[in-house]
Amino acid sequence: MTVVRVDPASPDAAVLARAASVLRRGGLVAFPTETVYGLGANALDPAAVARIFAAKGRPSYNPLIVHVADGERARALASDWPEAAERLAAAFWPGPLTLVVPKHASVPDAATAGRPNVALRVPAHPVAHALLLAADLPIAAPSANRSTEISPSTAAHVAKSLGGRVDLILDGGPTRVGIESTVVSLLESIPMLLRPGTLSIDHLRAVVGDVRVPHVEPGADEARLSPGMMDRHYAPRARLSVVDAKALREAAARDVERGLRVGAIAFDAGAIEGAESVHLPRDPAGYAAGLYAALHALDDAGVDAIYVEAVPEDAAWAGVRDRLRRAAHAG
Ligand code: AMP
Ligand code: MG
Repeated sequence: MTVVRVDPASPDAAVLARAASVLRRGGLVAFPTETVYGLGANALDPAAVARIFAAKGRPSYNPLIVHVADGERARALASDWPEAAERLAAAFWPGPLTLVVPKHASVPDAATAGRPNVALRVPAHPVAHALLLAADLPIAAPSANRSTEISPSTAAHVAKSLGGRVDLILDGGPTRVGIESTVVSLLESIPMLLRPGTLSIDHLRAVVGDVRVPHVEPGADEARLSPGMMDRHYAPRARLSVVDAKALREAAARDVERGLRVGAIAFDAGAIEGAESVHLPRDPAGYAAGLYAALHALDDAGVDAIYVEAVPEDAAWAGVRDRLRRAAHAG
C-alpha cells in the first residue's frame, strides 16, 4: 500500500497518471470524493471489480456505484435515460447524487451484482474528477472500508481499514460532505429514494415533483431494493445508542460508574464526566461532515459504548438519521 498526497486545488498530473495506470492494469486505487473515500477499480473489468469485493469482504449481492466524469459518459452506460434522470443530473451533477437506471450491455454484471440496472454518479471532488479523466474509464467505487465498518472520510481511515489490500491511496484531505451519496432509482415512472444523503428529498422533489420513499420492513426485502440499506452498516465496534440529551448524560454516568469506557456525541459543549466526548454542530451538513471522523475517533479510543444525542426529525437530517440508525443496529 502506498499513500500519496494530492492537492485538491491542483492535482499533480504525474500522481494521477500513476493512479490511472494502476486502474488500467486492474488494480485498486482509493481516492477522495466529496462524500467519502472510494475504493476504485476499472468498472469495465470484471476481474478488477471482483478485487473490490475481496478487499472489502463485501457480499457479492451488493452492487457498486459506477463513477464517471460527466453526464454524457453516464448516459453512455445506461440503456434508457428517463427524463427524470436528465433533470436530476442537470440539477445536481457533479455532486452527491447517485442515479439507478437500466444498464448498457457494456457494463459488466460484476459491477451491478448481476442486476439489469446500474448506479451512476458524477462526483464533484476535483481529485476524483481528475482521476476519471486521467484513466478515461468509468470507476466502480464503493466506500473504501471493510464491509459493515464505518466509511472513511480521510485517507488515514482508509489505511486503517484496508491497509495492504489496496494498491494506492490518494490522500486529498478530509471529505467535505462526509456521508454517502443520496441514491435515487429511476426504474419506475415515479423516482424512488433508495438511500437518503445530504441532498434531501425536498431538493429532489423541487426538480422532479413526486419522489417515493420505499415502505418496506427492515431486513431482506429492503436489502433487495438497495443493498446499501442493509440494517447493520456504517457501524463502529462499540455498542452505539441514540438517546436524548438527558438520557445520554444518565446512561453515560451509569456506564462510567460501572467502569466502562464511554464515548458520547452531542450537540453542546460541556464534557460529560469521565466520557470521551465529541461535539458536532446543530446543522445537518456540518454534522454529516464530522460524523464518521467522530465515530472513528471513538473507536480508536477503545470505548465500550457510544451514546449519540438524537438529531432533529426533519427531512434535512434524514441522511444522518439513517446512518445513525444503522450504526446502532446490533445484528
Ligand atoms: P457504497 O458504495 O458502499 O455506498 O454502496 C453503493 C450502494 O449503492 C449500494 O449498497 C446500493 O445501496 C446502491 N446501489 C448500487 N447499485 C444499485 C442498483 N443497481 N440498484 C439499487 N441500488 C444500488
Ligand atoms: Mg459503504
